[in-house]
Amino acid sequence: MSLLSIRDVRKSFGDNLVLDGFSLEVEPGECVVLIGASGSGKSTLLRCVNLLETVDDGVIELDGTDITDPRINTDQVRSGIGIVFQAYNLFPHLSVLDNVTLAPIRVHGVRRDVARARALEMLDRVGLAAKATAKPDELSGGQQQRAAIARALVNSPKLMLLDEVTSALDPELVGEVLDLLTDLKSDGMTMLICTHEMSFARSVADKVCFLDQGRPLEIGPPAQVLENPAEPRTREFLRRIR
Ligand code: ADP
Ligand code: MG
Repeated sequence: MSLLSIRDVRKSFGDNLVLDGFSLEVEPGECVVLIGASGSGKSTLLRCVNLLETVDDGVIELDGTDITDPRINTDQVRSGIGIVFQAYNLFPHLSVLDNVTLAPIRVHGVRRDVARARALEMLDRVGLAAKATAKPDELSGGQQQRAAIARALVNSPKLMLLDEVTSALDPELVGEVLDLLTDLKSDGMTMLICTHEMSFARSVADKVCFLDQGRPLEIGPPAQVLENPAEPRTREFLRRIR
């Protein structure tokens, strides 16, 4: 069974139809990369999965539960999903450690000592154990993004959503974040990732999905979608970004 099943999702903002019958299956442990032009609906899709937006039509199931059911407990659904954005969104006045423990303590009622131990484990996982007491502005962009990933991992999510997490980084810092995502994939994490990093998609993705005007125009292994696309529009997009 899929861990994430997105079926015929529609979403409009006013008369702007952004997701137009979008369907995608993500199996446990899979890394699925979403590609597509700016405005094609990639971020909206991730936001719908994390219930930051409500869908107009269609179904999203996470681990067999219909999370688009209006009676669903959104906090509970979100606690099973880690999300990381382009901007790291760390709280500047808090240490790295406090950024990571904030939600567990405040939202999920985890005991402070338990939350700290778990956060230190996650900071170690992302190579930032030595920076636990630092403030975000004492970290490089790549380190800040790794701290944001540690924060997203701290609840042991079933699914990680990553929205262009390397786009704001200086080029020399991109690799350390992509290497971390590659490690997470090796550990069996299920991930849905929007990125323009095609070499990452080629080497790590199980499936690549090309979004075109809110529809999944082409879904398949990277060797197919990136190297030998069937659709002229996929070919045109890849030509433009190369
Ligand atoms: P992508 O991430 O692929 O660049 P987005 O999902 O961000 O695309 O945006 C898709 C379309 O939805 C764009 O036309 C954008 O302007 C519109 N959109 C996204 N979020 C909102 C919002 N909160 N309100 C109105 N329009 C939005
Ligand atoms: Mg986007």
